[in-house]
Order: sequence, then C-alpha cells, then structure tokens
Amino acid sequence: MSPLFNHIRARILRDGPLSVAQFMEEALGNRDYGYYITRDPLGARGDFITAPEISQVFGELLGMWSASVWESLGRPSLFRWVEMGPGRGTLMADAIRATRRLDGFHAAANIHLIESSPVLQTAQANALSTVGFKDVSWHRDLSQVPEGPVICMANEFFDALPVRQFQKVVSSWRERLVDVTETKDGLRFVLSTAAAKPHFIPDTETIRKTADGGWVETSPTSMRIVHTLADRLVSSGGAAVIIDYGHTQTAPGETLQAVQNHTFGDVLDHPGEQDLTAHVDFDALGRIVLHAGAVKHGPTTQNAYLNAMGLPIRARQLAAAVASVDQGQSIARAIDRLVNPEHMGTLFKVMGISAPNLANLVGFSQSSLPQ
Ligand code: SAH
Repeated sequence: MSPLFNHIRARILRDGPLSVAQFMEEALGNRDYGYYITRDPLGARGDFITAPEISQVFGELLGMWSASVWESLGRPSLFRWVEMGPGRGTLMADAIRATRRLDGFHAAANIHLIESSPVLQTAQANALSTVGFKDVSWHRDLSQVPEGPVICMANEFFDALPVRQFQKVVSSWRERLVDVTETKDGLRFVLSTAAAKPHFIPDTETIRKTADGGWVETSPTSMRIVHTLADRLVSSGGAAVIIDYGHTQTAPGETLQAVQNHTFGDVLDHPGEQDLTAHVDFDALGRIVLHAGAVKHGPTTQNAYLNAMGLPIRARQLAAAVASVDQGQSIARAIDRLVNPEHMGTLFKVMGISAPNLANLVGFSQSSLPQ
C-alpha cells in the first residue's frame, strides 16, 4: 500500500468517510504525495497530453489574444499577465514568443503563475527562461497577485479541481462519500445517509427534474476561483479566457475519471498515481460571472475560438516554412487535433470573462453556442 493510501485510510478511520472533493484534494494535492505535487504528468511519456503540448499554435494564438486584450484596454504601461495551472509553461512560452515584436507589450507585462506543484514550477521557470523572460512570480491563488489590470489564461486547469457528487435517492439528494472497504484494506464509494443541504445542489430546471438514480456534480472550488477572478476583473479591469472540456448547460451526470499512462482507470485505485478530472460545468461558472457583475463571453467551441483568433493564417505561415514533407504533415496533424470535432474541436469549450467596459471580446464575436 502506498503512503498516500495509508494516510487516506487513517484519515477515514479517524474522521469518517471523505467527500469526493476531499478525496480528490488528497489524491491530487496532498503536499507530500499528491499527483500534481510529485511529478510532471504531461506529454507523450506522461499520463495525458494537452493542447499547448500538441502544437505551438495554441500558445501563439493565446498570446495574440492577450495582446489584443491589452490593445483594447488602451495599452496600459503595466498589466498582470496571469496563467492558472501552467503545466510545463509551454503555453506561456509560446505566447511570449508570438508577441515579441509587439511594441510595448512585453515591457508592460508582469507574469504571474498560479501553480501548486513545485515540480511544475521548476519546469515553468525553465520554459520561460528559454524565451528570455525573467520577470515572473508564482502564487497560490489570484488574491496574491498585486494590483493592476489582469489578462488571465487557464487551459485544462478547472478540470483538475475537486468536485462533489450527489445521487438522487427517493426524491432527495445524497452525497457520494469515500469510505474504507469492510476489510479496511481498500476504498469504496458509499452514499451519505443524510439528505444533502439544498444549497449544494444547482437550482436549475433539468436538475430539479432528475429521476431517481441520477447524479449531479458541483465544484465549489472552481466556483470560488471564478468568483475571485470575476471580482478582480470588475475592480481592476481586464479579461480572462478559460479553456477546458465540459458542458455548456448544467445537466445531470457523473463525469469524474481517472487517467494513467493515457488509459482510463478506476477513480479509487492508486490515489496519487493517476490523474483525476471532471467535466467543467461552464453554465455554473457563467452564473457566477454574471452574479459578480462581469461579462461572460461564449462559451464557444475550441474550434470556433482558434479560428476566430486566426488559426488558418498561422497554419499557412508554418506550412510555408517547413523543411520537409514529413514536417509539414506532422504540423498539419497536430493542428487538426486541436480543431477537428472528432478530437478536441468541440468537446473543448472556451469561455471569456471581462470587466463590463469590454462588451466585445476578441475571439468570441458571433460564435457563442446557443444557451
Ligand atoms: N495548462 C497546462 C497544464 C494542465 S494540467 C496545459 O495545458 O498543459 C493542470 C495544471 O494545474 C498543472 O499545472 C497543475 O499542477 C495545476 N493545478 C492543479 N490544481 C491546482 C491548484 N489547486 N492550484 C494551482 N494549480 C493547480
């Protein structure tokens, strides 16, 4: 048994079953053994691969998006260029490279990375030093980022945040909990015997109509982070872009999944050894944005957003510069993975958030999905 499994088991035997969110916090973020704390999970040889690791075009277009937002803010002489959950730092490094020639933009940019993993902080420092950017600081959360307008990016960050799960049983919602097995040498799911407090359950028509046996997932941590972000954009000015796989309407369902070495596994197996993610409920996050008085843009699809940001032009430039047919084909294949509806093109959604004075946000023109 791993040290993290023993720690989780001892905690349950001492305090009782954990919520799914508490289990995820331990599995992903335990400060000694958590999945993200102990390793770099990204890439072909890791457990999963993300858009910036697939093609440089992704980070380049997000760099162009950031620069366009800076222009629409009136080119402030200082702004906070924030990334949440920057992984290996590839997206930010590509964004920096793509905006190098833009007069005044880099001089105004202070980079702030929100990252909990010491291993990935080191990878990010290396990636940014290769593009010659030293003015970088790391934070636990956005509230630590000093004052000034914010331009924020988050790719596959929210899907890694803890979710709580509830099942409808004879017309009441019961929380799913993680307990030890009867022989105490494993973990199993159980349902709370008490009904969940109503404020934990999204108050939408589809959720109210869920039949017995149906599930609902919520991510209070994601909602808290989006609230802080939207408040900050309203008070300091700026915009954010959130990219993740997920749904545009709050709907019943259970999406928590475990991935190790590019293969799905059992959520409760090997805590700390496999990635745990859940679909992002953009509808729930959007309600928080509006509640905070910020503007919500989209969500649209990754395909529509990247095309609106000029993907076809950038793809042609790269194709013109290739050294061989093979290289050209591999660039085209990588770009296709980002936008093809059979790959990431429509499963991945993009939501913008801005201060009220940015009523139109680049990348989101006519492409919002129907609500
Ligand atoms: N954006 C990157 C990495 C995605 S993986 C990419 O697209 O490649 C998720 C990232 O979020 C990792 O960097 C992970 O360490 C970080 N992360 C997860 N939970 C976090 C938390 N609670 N606070 C800060 N960073 C977190």
